Amino acid sequence: IKRLAVLTSGGDAPGMNACIRAIQLTASACNIEVIGFHHGFNGLLEQEYQSLHSHHVDNIIQRGGTILKSARCPALEQTDGPARAAEALQQLNIDALIVIGGDGSFRGTLAISKHYSGQLIGVPGTIDNDVDGTDNTIGFATALDTALDAIDKIRDTADAFERIFLVELMGRHSGYLSLAAGIAAGAEQIICPEFGTLSPANLKPIITPIQHAQLLKGKASYIMIVAENSYPGGTTALAEALTEAIGIECRACILGHIQRGGSPVGADRILATKLGAYAVEQLLQGANLMMAGEVNGEAVLYPLAKTGDRTKAIDPFLVRWQQQIGSL
Ligand code: ATP
Repeated sequence: IKRLAVLTSGGDAPGMNACIRAIQLTASACNIEVIGFHHGFNGLLEQEYQSLHSHHVDNIIQRGGTILKSARCPALEQTDGPARAAEALQQLNIDALIVIGGDGSFRGTLAISKHYSGQLIGVPGTIDNDVDGTDNTIGFATALDTALDAIDKIRDTADAFERIFLVELMGRHSGYLSLAAGIAAGAEQIICPEFGTLSPANLKPIITPIQHAQLLKGKASYIMIVAENSYPGGTTALAEALTEAIGIECRACILGHIQRGGSPVGADRILATKLGAYAVEQLLQGANLMMAGEVNGEAVLYPLAKTGDRTKAIDPFLVRWQQQIGSL
């Protein structure tokens, strides 16, 4: 490998910069030239890129976001998109491409592979932690702490006003972040897409635990963590429906993009550094169409094609425990 490219795609995640840094430093140490495409796959299609030298990655390990910018790229999903992307890689003499992103970005990478003779490797970077083949994705640990900080503050005001709060967290179609944050915040109830889509006609399963808590325990505050995409009309509509059904004011709080920002926590910096360096090393060993992940503390390769087979399962032990204490 003489020339290596990297891009960040999909939702940005804290730690992406740390990963870019590790890729640049590892490749440089092996005398490999590195370029970075801007705005995800858009920069690849438009051939908008920059050389990455060590001074570009100085002082970025602690920064959120991504110096290469991230984006969704509908053009790659058009019929001729993957072939155009492969052509750009070939024109620029790129021997290998590292894609830092989520499972959608890996689907895009696989589409390009049909037309590209170089090596392709993925590094999981998304706050959702919904990618199979790695215990954690880059960004998840930071997003969890950010969500917790916010939920703890909401708890203070919920306690003071004796209110029910529904806090919506990100996760696309995964409840991983919601379950983790809900458990760590001591939430009274957690709602994830994995438990099935809630129907406006049948809210009883979530109303009963609220009534139990209010009547039996005399709780001053009640926090329900709701993963996005759990209720057809959204979390605000769910709060309105609950207010009407139980006669107690329920407030929705959508945490939104605050969860994607911020300086990466230590765990994310280390994971990002490890997976970035490992991806380069494995490319040099000939790896292709693999994702660099970490399982039980060890860096491992996982077939890119399998990352989209299923969403990573949420922790069955924690689900069972939450059910046992009657608040799921
Ligand atoms: P996150 O879930 O954290 O936002 P992601 O990588 O899953 O990250 P997506 O929006 O699903 O984010 O995908 C990112 C990009 O990957 C898309 O904008 C598109 O360019 C590309 N992509 C996704 N699926 C395909 C596909 N089937 N064919 C070609 N490109 C795809």
